[in-house]
Amino acid sequence: MCSSSAARPTGDSRYTFGFRLAAWYAVLFVGSALVLIALTYVLLASTLRQRDHEIIQSTLEKYASQYEQDGVPGLVAAIRSDRLAGQHETLFVRAVGAYAQAVYFSSPEDWSGFDLGRLDVAPLPDTKVWSDVRAAQTGDVLEVASVRLPDGIIFQVGKSTGSREDLLARFRTVMLLAFGAVSLVGLGGAVFITRSTLGPIRRLIAVVRRIMATGRIEARVPARETGDALDELSTLFNGMLDRIESLIAGMRGSLDNVAHDLRTPMMRLRSIAETALESDRGPEALREALADCLEESDRVVAMLTTVMDISEAETGTMKLVRERVDVAHLLQETVDLYADVAEEKQQALGTTAAPELSLNADHNRLRQVMANLVDNAVKYTPAGGSIALEGRTDGNSVVIDVRDTGIGIPPDDLPRVWERLYRADASRSERGLGLGLSLVRAIVEAHGGRVAVTSRPGEGSTFTLVFPAQHPPAMPPE
Ligand code: ADP
Repeated sequence: MCSSSAARPTGDSRYTFGFRLAAWYAVLFVGSALVLIALTYVLLASTLRQRDHEIIQSTLEKYASQYEQDGVPGLVAAIRSDRLAGQHETLFVRAVGAYAQAVYFSSPEDWSGFDLGRLDVAPLPDTKVWSDVRAAQTGDVLEVASVRLPDGIIFQVGKSTGSREDLLARFRTVMLLAFGAVSLVGLGGAVFITRSTLGPIRRLIAVVRRIMATGRIEARVPARETGDALDELSTLFNGMLDRIESLIAGMRGSLDNVAHDLRTPMMRLRSIAETALESDRGPEALREALADCLEESDRVVAMLTTVMDISEAETGTMKLVRERVDVAHLLQETVDLYADVAEEKQQALGTTAAPELSLNADHNRLRQVMANLVDNAVKYTPAGGSIALEGRTDGNSVVIDVRDTGIGIPPDDLPRVWERLYRADASRSERGLGLGLSLVRAIVEAHGGRVAVTSRPGEGSTFTLVFPAQHPPAMPPE
C-alpha cells in the first residue's frame, strides 16, 4: 500500500537539495579560484626562475669575454663596476685553473654553507653545464652555470635562489589571504544564490500546500516580475490555477443550471402522471398522458445528451473522426435540411462558398454545428427575412458565416449567448434549451477553431466560425 506522504518530498530533502546547490556553487567558485591562484603561482615561479637563468647566462658570457680579454684584473674591474652600478644582486663568480686551483673567486659575504666541492665540473668546450648546490642550513639553492674557456680555465657564475624564494613566500602569503577572502565571498554567494533560487519554489510549494489543506483554489503565487524561468513557472502555475478555478466555477454553474432546468420538465412529468392517475377517464386519456410523459422524458434525455456532449468537447474527450469536409457541400446539406421550415416562414435561405474550400474535421459534428446555427437563425428571424450561409477564406483560415436579418441580440446579452442554458429574454417565447450555442462553441474549439458573433437588435445577427490555418493532413474518407 502506498501512502500519500510517500510521494511528497519531506522538508529535509528540500533542505538537502538547497544544501547540494550551495555546496556545488561553493565548490565550483572556490575550486576555480584555487586553480587560478595555483596557475598564477606556477607562472610567476617559472618566470622568476627563467629571469635568474638569463641573468646568470648573460653575466657569464660578459665576464668570460672580459676575462679572456684582460685577464683577472679586467674581470675584477667589470665585477666592481657592476656592483657600483647596483645592476643586480651579488653573484657568485669563480675561475678554476687546470689543476683545480681557483684563479679567481668572488662570493657575497653572507653566503655560507654551500658545498662548493660539488661545483667541480668539467664541461666540454662550447657547452654550458648547470649545477645546483643546496646550503645545508638555509635551504637556499645556488644555481651555477659553468663553461670551459679556450685556455682550459673553467669559468662559473651563480646566483642564490634566496631572494626568489622570499618573493614567492610573500606571494604565497598574499594569495592565501586572497583565497580566504574569495572563499568567504564564494560561501556567501552560495547562500545567496540558493536562497534566491529556492525562494520562488518554496513559495510555490507553500501555495500548493495551502490549496491541498484548505481545498480553496483562490491562493496564488506572488508575482516577482523578474522575467526569469522561475517567474515564468509561477505565472504559468497561477494561469493554470485561474483556468482550473474558472472550469470549476463553470462546472458548478452549469450543474446548478442543469439541476434548475431539469426541475421544470420533471415537475411537468410528475403533474401529467398525477393528473392521469387521479382522473377517472378511460384508457385513451391514460395513453395520451403516457405519450406526454414520453415526450417530456425525450426532452430531458436530449438536454442531458447535449450537456454531456458539451462537457466532452470542452474537456477534450470528445472523439472526433476527422476527414476532409467539403465546405460548400456542408452548407448545402444544411440549407436542404432547413429549406422546408424556411419556406414555411417565407424566409430566403441561401448559401455561397468558395469552390475547393475544405476542412479536416468531424463531418457529423460540423453538421450539428451548422444545424444549431441555422435552427436559431430560422427561429429568431421573422417571416419575410433572409438567412445566408457563406464559406470563405481569410488569410489561411477557413471561415463560415451564418447571417440573418432576425431580431438580433441586445449588446448586454451578446457575450453571454455562448453560456450553457443562457437564453435572452426576447427569445423565451421560442422553443429551446439554451444549449445550442454552447455546443457550437465547444465543438468548434475542439477542432482548434474559434467562434464570434456580431449583432444589431432589430436588424440581424452574424455568427462566424473560424477554423485554424494549419490543419493536420486530411485523413482519407473511410
Ligand atoms: P436556444 O435553445 O435558446 O436557441 P442557444 O444556445 O442556441 O439556445 O442560443 C442562446 C440564446 O442566444 C438564444 O436564447 C437567443 O436569445 C440568442 N440567439 C441565438 N441565435 C440567435 C439569432 N440568430 N438571433 C437572435 N438571437 C439569437
